[in-house]
Amino acid sequence: MPALYYLSIAQTEQNMKNLPDRVATAHLWVVATPIGTLDDMPPRAVAVLRQVDAIAAEDTRHSGRLLQHFGIDTPLLAYHDHNEQAQAGKLVRRMLAGERLALISDAGTPLVSDPGYRLVAEARVAGLTVSAVPGPSAAVLALAISGLPVERFSFAGFPPAKGQVRQHWFEALANNDQTVVLYESSHRIESALEAIEQVFGPEHPVFLARELTKLHETTRLDPVTQLRQWLADDPQQKKGEFVLVIARKPQSVGLEPRDRQWLEALKEHLPPGQLARVTARVTGMKKKEVYGLF
Ligand code: SAM
Repeated sequence: MPALYYLSIAQTEQNMKNLPDRVATAHLWVVATPIGTLDDMPPRAVAVLRQVDAIAAEDTRHSGRLLQHFGIDTPLLAYHDHNEQAQAGKLVRRMLAGERLALISDAGTPLVSDPGYRLVAEARVAGLTVSAVPGPSAAVLALAISGLPVERFSFAGFPPAKGQVRQHWFEALANNDQTVVLYESSHRIESALEAIEQVFGPEHPVFLARELTKLHETTRLDPVTQLRQWLADDPQQKKGEFVLVIARKPQSVGLEPRDRQWLEALKEHLPPGQLARVTARVTGMKKKEVYGLF
């Protein structure tokens, strides 16, 4: 590891000593860790993880390796989906007794499709200070390099794994007038693209980010039908971790989701001319712009 790297950690630790109220008192730190290359470990994360009394981690064996790599020997506690309810209260009591704890997940930013919500919520209710050490999150990275509009976006997390509930979940995305970011596993990436094609049409732009910050990082912005073909042609590309970013529906520009619901309902009862007049009046848009909405 380059000396410069250690220098920056040392400086961070020194800076933190100058902020005793932020590190010396009961406190919950939500700490981001890399999603691929370890070079992305935030220096301040190393400093905080060294100084806290214990680290709550989703998978202690997995995080143990990360901590060992950075020479951090702070004790680890298991905090995951299955013990979250019982653990949150215990950890809050420990902090109320004066301990400083950190929360990390297997990769990226805790709480983003990862455990932690309950702990942060209970810590807030208990009046504890909660701070973050920012770092990578796959959703934000994918969005930032997608080439799709980012001024308004929604994060949809993981689609349900199967059945009608999965199909309805994708159908509901069509009502969203923002760029949508979602996570999907390698087993279901092809099925997700198929569902997106059904809902948005074959030419709809979708950005696929695979293995971000890792050796086999691949990113593509293409019509969804081309992405499907590309995956079908190259089985290697189906492996790893994926983020999908779906362009918002062009015709929904200028309409709030609630207005869109009205429009869809009225479409069945009014001829296009009348529908355009009513929509223009309600939305304040020009009549010719309104035709692009349906
Ligand atoms: N908390 C993490 C974050 O901030 O990104 C996400 C945790 S979630 C359990 C794991 C999912 O995030 C993966 O299944 C994948 O969809 C996405 N992901 C994580 N790392 C990734 C990477 N390096 N490249 C692409 N997607 C990634």
